[in-house]
Amino acid sequence: MDTKYIFVTGGVVSSLGKGIISASLACLLKARGYRVTIQKFDPYINIDPGTLNPYEHGECYVTVDGHEADLDLGHYERFTNVNTTKANNVTTGRIYQSVIDKERRGDYLGKTVQIIPHITDEIKRNIMLLGNTGNFDFIITEIGGTIGDIESLPFIESVRQLRWELGQDSLCIHLTYVPYLHAAKELKTKPTQHSVKLLQEAGVQPDILVLRTEQDIPADMRHKIARFCNVSPDAVVQSIDCSSIYEVPVMMHTQHLDEIVLRKTGIIPKGEPHMEPWMQFLDKMHKATETVNIALVGKYVELQDAYKSINEALFHAATHCDHKLNLTSIHSEKITPENVGELLDGMDGVIVAPGFGQRGVEGKLTALEWCRNNDVPTFGICLGMQCMVIEFARNVLGLKDANSTEMNPSTKDNVIDLMEEQKNLSNLGGTMRLGAYECRLKPGSTAARAYGTTHITERHRHRFEFNNAYRKRFEDAGMKCVGENPSAQLVEVVEIPGKRWWVGTQYHPEYSSTVLNPHPLFNSFIKAAIAFKQEKAKENHSENKN
Ligand code: GLN
Repeated sequence: MDTKYIFVTGGVVSSLGKGIISASLACLLKARGYRVTIQKFDPYINIDPGTLNPYEHGECYVTVDGHEADLDLGHYERFTNVNTTKANNVTTGRIYQSVIDKERRGDYLGKTVQIIPHITDEIKRNIMLLGNTGNFDFIITEIGGTIGDIESLPFIESVRQLRWELGQDSLCIHLTYVPYLHAAKELKTKPTQHSVKLLQEAGVQPDILVLRTEQDIPADMRHKIARFCNVSPDAVVQSIDCSSIYEVPVMMHTQHLDEIVLRKTGIIPKGEPHMEPWMQFLDKMHKATETVNIALVGKYVELQDAYKSINEALFHAATHCDHKLNLTSIHSEKITPENVGELLDGMDGVIVAPGFGQRGVEGKLTALEWCRNNDVPTFGICLGMQCMVIEFARNVLGLKDANSTEMNPSTKDNVIDLMEEQKNLSNLGGTMRLGAYECRLKPGSTAARAYGTTHITERHRHRFEFNNAYRKRFEDAGMKCVGENPSAQLVEVVEIPGKRWWVGTQYHPEYSSTVLNPHPLFNSFIKAAIAFKQEKAKENHSENKN
């Protein structure tokens, strides 16, 4: 069959969940046996989100091929179990950069370079790239931003042209918002009508409307919207708030979104999607009653999306282990030696987050010292792992000044130091050690047992690294370097073997946890936390008896 192109646009407001709807549709089409990928086109000027701070754009996700990407790509992978790449995330910045490079090379042969056709052609070329590989039956393209934004105009114009060129091999799903006015006790359809009108003015007729709502939208109201917007009544689907994003594929299937997409692209739907493994996950999620209490220590904890992949990976693992995740976010800047016991007491496991810069680092070190002394299962990721190394150096090796040269360039004991290849770089964008690298694990280590293998590949995003000059001192004192990159001898995993669970990874395992494949290291961490919880309960029980 010819590759089908599905465009997903959004109207009225942002944050309606275009990424989740795209991922849910992909999940359903994949469960019907189709080869599917999702790509995100973002209208901002940054070349990629790698230089954006989490206050601007939430977490920066990293693909296996080392692209710093929009966090929606994380949803795509978690819902489809398929890796994304650099081609799955394109920004206005990338488009302009490529057009300007061509102009400088003289490729435009003296022509005036314009938004139409040069920018739109470049957008169209990028939209078609993955489709041209022949590897996919469906390419879902999410257009970032909201219809009416100045910066999304060239993208919408490109969608208009492609819809014209592709005919039945393409369709447009438009997501809008149906607000409920409490004072009037009424759902309102006008914003949807206006946003569809804006889309139509740009020459794009949506085929399917997905209405985000907090209240059930009655059938007659959906028919009214269908009539106003030139959409067939069965193609007006509601996306009502639900308790977990992982319910959305089921909610979409109940309203036949996958079947409507197939029919509208000329395919006769056969049978039902094979959703059993997904349903088993939801079943575990619904049935779990016991909780596991995990603290996440980081400096962006007030932001919902800053540690998205870690939150999801913890949730996958807890669900996999038949537990409810009770996640407490602790602001690392607020942790002091005086309050750390009070903040962390009762936690079954503690995870120390990645990050950049000095802010909040001392709080992370204080938390780690308390966890090590109280033998709480602890997981350090990237900067979290580097903090594990610094804390151990200061408090066990007695190197009081130990630090990362990121925090103190003139520290005497640079136990974490800038990687050699990073030393002469001046550009910050896209220059970290990025993407998937191999790692060999020591047989018998906690990590090797968790993965069930000693040969793994994981994704990275960092400039600093464990300083091998200190390796022997750490190992002699009990912190073992159990994971190493085979070609560069970079330390990728540290552990303290005598502890209940003490693992730090220079890489980011959270990026590769999916619903159908919860990450083994997160599973192992959650299992250790559950065991610790049960141990504490037993102790309390026998204390009460005595
Ligand atoms: N700031 C640290 C580095 O660059 C850690 C980065 C991270 O946590 N992703 O090495």
